[in-house]
Amino acid sequence: MRYSQMLLPTTRETPAEAEVISHQLLLRGGFIRKLSAGVYTFLPLGLLTLQKVSAIVREEMNRAGAQEILMPMVQPGDLWMESGRWQHYGPELLRFRDRNERDCCLGPTHEEVVTDIARRELQSYRQLPMNLYQIQTKYRDEIRPRFGLMRGREFVMKDAYSFDADDEGAAQSYERMRAAYDRIFTRCGLDFRMVEADSGSIGGSYSHEFMVLAETGEDTLVLCHDCSYAANVEKAVVKAPAQSPVATQSLEELRKVETPGQKRVKSVAEFLQVSPQQVIKTMIYLADEEIVAALVRGDREVQTVKLKNLLGATEVQILTEDQIWAALRLPMGYIGPVNLPLRVVADHEVLAMRNAVAGANEKGSHYQGVNPERDFSVQISGDLREIAEDDSCPACGGSLYFKEGIEVGHIFKLGTKYSEAMEATFQDSDGQEQPLIMGCYGIGVSRIVAAAIEQNYDENGIIFPLPIAPFQVILLNLGPNDEELTRAADSLYQELQTAGVEVLYDDRDERPGSKFNDADLLGIPYRLTLGRTFKQKGEVELRERRSGATSSLLLAETAAAVQARIASAFAAL
Ligand code: ATP
Ligand code: MG
Repeated sequence: MRYSQMLLPTTRETPAEAEVISHQLLLRGGFIRKLSAGVYTFLPLGLLTLQKVSAIVREEMNRAGAQEILMPMVQPGDLWMESGRWQHYGPELLRFRDRNERDCCLGPTHEEVVTDIARRELQSYRQLPMNLYQIQTKYRDEIRPRFGLMRGREFVMKDAYSFDADDEGAAQSYERMRAAYDRIFTRCGLDFRMVEADSGSIGGSYSHEFMVLAETGEDTLVLCHDCSYAANVEKAVVKAPAQSPVATQSLEELRKVETPGQKRVKSVAEFLQVSPQQVIKTMIYLADEEIVAALVRGDREVQTVKLKNLLGATEVQILTEDQIWAALRLPMGYIGPVNLPLRVVADHEVLAMRNAVAGANEKGSHYQGVNPERDFSVQISGDLREIAEDDSCPACGGSLYFKEGIEVGHIFKLGTKYSEAMEATFQDSDGQEQPLIMGCYGIGVSRIVAAAIEQNYDENGIIFPLPIAPFQVILLNLGPNDEELTRAADSLYQELQTAGVEVLYDDRDERPGSKFNDADLLGIPYRLTLGRTFKQKGEVELRERRSGATSSLLLAETAAAVQARIASAFAAL
């Protein structure tokens, strides 16, 4: 491709709206342009990159035995009513009516549609296992679209769905996808980890997420120094504490104390001269339609996904001071479980607390001598708090560390959730009707483009991993008005193309400085330059974007040398 003919609008300035580096560089490099919040156009270079990622995903899915299909983006609401998700999906599902007043939605995911296909087309165990996938645009009306391609409202996903006759087959399908995901993210040149993930309130199922390690990641990963344990912090289990020594302490009487202006655990603890571990932290949440209280020890945090699972709720949201006052007439900062007219969910650690401090549900007062069971009852108790770095590893007892990650893939054992709700059955070998056992497997194809950049950049721009770079080589002609140079550059361009090298030919009438800057910004792995040294010594400069290493080549050997470099780089992956 000739640069001069390409829509490739690079800019020098960092756009103010872009908070993370991938978003900044994708805008500056002319890869994408915003249409509206979380909705982007892929310009030619962006689309090429997206297609590179898609091609890897497609190849590995096909290799794993999955079959590509393409399902509609507009879905009938009826199917979602059948699965029960029309009620439960929440405002991320963009709903609308067609001219016949029929409910419709834009597909945020395709379990309903694919289950509908399966119930029509899969009748016998002989047709199983089956894995169907697509690479397609999804729409989710995200509350906070941000970071460009990272969290869009419209984005490209690969979603696959497996159908099996029994649990053993379903486990094999899952394992095949796990292995395919490993290959996909390795081939994309990403530094990633597979972690145990939350699978929501669907009992008996399990799931794993694939996380690209990057500081800007919105997920926290819990990793172990001593074993291979890796989990999303939402999932990382904190074991129930052994009965602590304080449990045998004698119980003090409940007494109210004045704590004017002391609204935070730390300040209440200091004021009353106790440790934060002696304070019961009471947080108020809206769980679906119900307001509930969540209790953890003062030095701990509530993990909202665990809260959601303990309640079996679809959505939980923390309430603000104003919302709490409006709904309950209780002053935030002074709320506690004693005489609280709400359902109480407590971390198991709280049940072992003795003579604790908790809010008295009156402005400026707390209770001391608070004891669970005696002074308040707990409706649900369990693993509610977020694991901390100083907790011990749930798998081996070793020491933990945290890292930030970007979720690029999620594999999920669904079981019969959708096949039962939508009556997708097959005949087993004994002629019995059985529900299909399903799995679903997502990859954020467009998110990978952003995640790869979060991991691969420097102060001058992007450093694409070779397999997903929009071009493998950028060829700079530094003297487009010089006949000799241009003749040489043109012929090298031809030769590279004939050799099957993907090359962007910068033939623009621009200063060398801006050509070098753009080449660095775009992150193309190899740069070839024809300039003064070619005129003087007949040499072409080859520079590697990542290492900055340069070498000199004779024109006649350049195409073959570059081709060999690329081949050996691919072989090393
Ligand atoms: P997240 O927790 O980031 O919202 P999710 O759990 O909702 O993701 P899935 O339903 O598992 O996501 O979707 C499969 C994949 O699609 C995710 O692993 C992610 O890579 C990608 N994805 C999800 N939401 C978005 C989005 N808003 N923008 C871009 N990619 C997304
Ligand atoms: Mg997920």
